[in-house]
Amino acid sequence: MRNSWKDLSIAKKLYAVFGVMAVLIAGELLTLRFAMGTLSAVRAFVGGEGSWSKAQKNAAFSLHRYGLTRDEADYQAFLSYLKVPEGDHVARLELQKKHPDLAVARAGFLAGNIQGGDITKMIDLLRRFYWAPYLSRAIEVWAEADGLLAMFRESGKEYHELLSSRVPDRARLEEALHSIRVLNNELTSVEDEFSRVLGEGSRWLERVIISLLFMAVLTAESVGLTLTFLTSRSISKGLSEISQAANAIGHGDFIRTAKVYSGDEIGQVATAVNRMGGLLEKSYRELEFRVRERTAELDKAVRVRDEFLSVASHELKTPLSSIKLQLQMRKKALDAGGESAIWSASEFRKMVADDEKQFDRLNRLIDDMLDVSRLTAGKFYLKPEPMELRALVQEVVDRFSIQARAGGSTLSLEAGAPVRGQWDWYRLEQVVTNLLTNAMKYGEGRPIQVTVKAEGQKAVLIVKDHGIGIAPSDQSRIFEQFERAVSPNEVSGLGLGLYITKQIVVAHGGSISVKSELGQGSEFRVEI
Ligand code: ADP
Repeated sequence: MRNSWKDLSIAKKLYAVFGVMAVLIAGELLTLRFAMGTLSAVRAFVGGEGSWSKAQKNAAFSLHRYGLTRDEADYQAFLSYLKVPEGDHVARLELQKKHPDLAVARAGFLAGNIQGGDITKMIDLLRRFYWAPYLSRAIEVWAEADGLLAMFRESGKEYHELLSSRVPDRARLEEALHSIRVLNNELTSVEDEFSRVLGEGSRWLERVIISLLFMAVLTAESVGLTLTFLTSRSISKGLSEISQAANAIGHGDFIRTAKVYSGDEIGQVATAVNRMGGLLEKSYRELEFRVRERTAELDKAVRVRDEFLSVASHELKTPLSSIKLQLQMRKKALDAGGESAIWSASEFRKMVADDEKQFDRLNRLIDDMLDVSRLTAGKFYLKPEPMELRALVQEVVDRFSIQARAGGSTLSLEAGAPVRGQWDWYRLEQVVTNLLTNAMKYGEGRPIQVTVKAEGQKAVLIVKDHGIGIAPSDQSRIFEQFERAVSPNEVSGLGLGLYITKQIVVAHGGSISVKSELGQGSEFRVEI
């Protein structure tokens, strides 16, 4: 019951409070109506008693007059006045039965000069409250009065008979008159007693009714106030709990929850606030985690960039140092040899070729760095044109053959029919060059096989070496900027070649993949 009240919606709670109030007020009104009805019945009773006494007094007066006038009409008036209390007598006897005939009682009261409207009230009063002390005493007095009245009537009858005889017996007349006077006096005192009891009874009833009404009003008011207090307290308690929780959550205390006091709208809001706190906490943790992750990524990127800078400066410096050394040696030789020729034509050619190699190396490094900055800035464009891939690969392979042989390895090309497409010649040349350079760098002087073929709509280029290979954990990262799987002390490099290669292939709508095992060599496959 307690819980179901708490879980009622606020609107229903308010309706319930108003409903209870309405029932109590209706109860009050019914009590009031009952009280008014009862009081008016008592008033009717007092009125009835008035008619009773008046009729008895009139009967006594008519009998007295009859004694003086001997007029039969006065005696008849005596009898007729007595019909009033006798009617009441009939009604009382009927109502005291277990199953009274209300029509008989009604007729009796009518004869007793009681107004039609009051009769019902009197009947109700006598039937409902015959047990009440004042009323039962009044009925007792009434019965006593009825008994005296019967004797009064008998005495009147005897008085009439005596006076009607030709020679009235004086002694008996005196006796009858005496008994009539005594009975009249007794009736008067019984009537007084009846009025007194009824008066006291009605005053008692008034007090009872006022107390009843007072209690009814008090009950209605206190129940109304209590219900209003309880309802408003539960509403304000729930609201303040929600506002405190929302405040705490707003200040970052996501663990704080609002106590859920009820299942009504406020309870539902509290549950929603708690759920929101939970969700906020979760997203906050996630955000924190992501920030930490991102910070770690940025830290790593900064570290990699720093490493790159030192590697890049080292890479740039190596050819420059070698050129400088060559220049110094030539200067010394010139200074020592004077004007005559110092170098033969073949020596001079070799020197120029060496210089060219160093310049090419510098050029490649600078080109790679430029490409990376173009790619990062989004300014990397292709210039596609109709071309044939097999010829391009053949040209690069030819160019690198001597270099490969110098490194102790062989370069072989397996190519079928020409492979045509709409590609950027210069960029694809860069792709082949990068893959072949790597194959030679990391190929440990073993044979390198290059394949060019068409597979369906795609052109396929495969560069396979039998060198150091790449660990599975490194195979995806080597395509990222500055990522290398070897230490700079082992083999020099910027970690940009495969990154640029992949960007070119992807820009052509193609893909690049690697199959490799440490120590077993690597196979790079490009599809465009
Ligand atoms: P770099 O060669 O300048 O280091 P790349 O981007 O060309 O940069 O290559 C990235 C890394 O991938 C290299 O450092 C190397 O560890 C690895 N790698 C590339 N090609 C091969 C290969 N053919 N065999 C073994 N490892 C390779």
